[in-house]
Amino acid sequence: MLGKIQKDLIKLLAFFGGLFLFFYLGFSPLFRSSSATWLTSEYNEHLFSYEKEIQLGEIIDRYAIKEEEIDILKNRPIDSALWVISSRLKKQIPISEYDYKIKIIESEMINAFTIPGGRIYISKELILFCESPEQLAAVLAHEIAHVEKRHTVSRILKEFTISLLFSIISGTDTVLLSELWKTTISSSFNRKQEQESDEYAMDLLEKSNISPRAIAAFFRKLNRENLDYDEKVEFLMSHPHNNSRIKRSLEYKISNGFKPIPLDLGWKSIKEDL
Ligand SMILES: [Zn+2]
Repeated sequence: MLGKIQKDLIKLLAFFGGLFLFFYLGFSPLFRSSSATWLTSEYNEHLFSYEKEIQLGEIIDRYAIKEEEIDILKNRPIDSALWVISSRLKKQIPISEYDYKIKIIESEMINAFTIPGGRIYISKELILFCESPEQLAAVLAHEIAHVEKRHTVSRILKEFTISLLFSIISGTDTVLLSELWKTTISSSFNRKQEQESDEYAMDLLEKSNISPRAIAAFFRKLNRENLDYDEKVEFLMSHPHNNSRIKRSLEYKISNGFKPIPLDLGWKSIKEDL
C-alpha cells in the first residue's frame, strides 16, 4: 500500500508531466505547424543535422556512383557549361548549408536526381535532350529545390529511422547502405514536394535572369516526343502531369523589370561533343 504522501507525489508528478507535454507539444516551434507532425518525417528532419546529411551523401556517392561513369565526361565543354549554369543559380540562393556537387553521369536515360547533402546527378541523355542551357538550368533549379527544402532527407526518413542512418554513417553496413541506395533511387517525392520544387525553381530561375518559362519549354518537348510519366525518373515522375506543369510555368507571374540574360555557351557544339 502506498502511503498518502507517495500517492500525492505521484499525482503531482502526473500533473506537471501532463502540463509539460501540453506546452511542449502545443507551443514548441518544432510542433507549431501542427501537433500531429511530431510523428512525421517533417519533424525528424530537424533531428537529422545538415552535417550528418552531408556525411551520408558522401557515403552514398562513394558506394553507388562509379567513377568510370563520370570520368568520361570530365574536362569536356559540358563541364564548364555546367559550372556556369550552376554558379548563376547558386548565387541567388540567399543562405545555403550545402556545397553543391553536381555530376554528369553516363546514362542512356533522361534522368536527374539528388541524394542527401547537396549532390545532384544529371544524365548525359538529359543534357542531349535539353534544347537550351536554360532548360538544363530549369532541371537543376528543380533539383536544388528538393535539396534546399530537405525533401531528399524526408524521403529517406519515411523508410529509415535516424538511428539506422547514424549506423550507416558510422559503420560499414553495406547491406543497409545498399537498401538506402535502392530507396533513394526508387522512391518518389510526393505531389506537394514536386509542386513546391517547381515553384522554388521558377523563383530561382527568375532571380538568376533565366526565364521561368524554360520549365514549360522542357515539358512541351517531352509532350512532342510523347515522353510522359516515368516513375523511374525523378524529374519526370511528375505527379503533377506534364500539362499542368506547363500551365503553371506559363502562368507564373514574372516581375515587370525581368530581363533574361542568355546563357551564351554554344549549346549546339557542347551537345555535339558529348
Ligand atoms: Zn522533383
